[in-house]
Amino acid sequence: MQGNRTFTMIKPDAVKAGKSGLILDHIIKNGFEIRAMRLVHMNRRQAEAFYSIHKERPFFDGLVTFMSSGPAIAAILEKENAVDSYRELIGATNPANAAEGTIRKLYATSIQENAVHGSDADETAEQEGSFFFNYFERV
Ligand code: GDP
Repeated sequence: MQGNRTFTMIKPDAVKAGKSGLILDHIIKNGFEIRAMRLVHMNRRQAEAFYSIHKERPFFDGLVTFMSSGPAIAAILEKENAVDSYRELIGATNPANAAEGTIRKLYATSIQENAVHGSDADETAEQEGSFFFNYFERV
């Protein structure tokens, strides 16, 4: 059985475009509860650490530059089957392939600047939530 928490970021492209409120509204209307939330402007080292799993990929440097380019919103969300349910709500990585009505279809502009992050498994949701929030904030 899947856990009931996931981790998300509203990425710098969407924050800069003034879409944070619309995206949070979309998330809440789809039954997710916000358990922790903060505005974060990552530096390069923090962005490299967050995406370290992708460090060998050709897009890594561009991704780090993008993710450290401005403020983002980090949040822990709660709902039954949170990880899968949230991945469905955000849509495919490339907005060109994202289903109608998904957050990425509505707000992403490219495969890199794709508006939101969503954890891909319970274990990564836990790790990513712990990256931004201490025990007191996420308990
Ligand atoms: P996600 O789980 O859907 O976010 O996708 P991944 O874990 O595969 O990739 C992490 C992030 O890297 C994506 O959300 C994009 O911002 C970026 N990314 C993934 N694939 C590509 C790519 O082929 N090119 C570029 N420029 N960025 C990518």
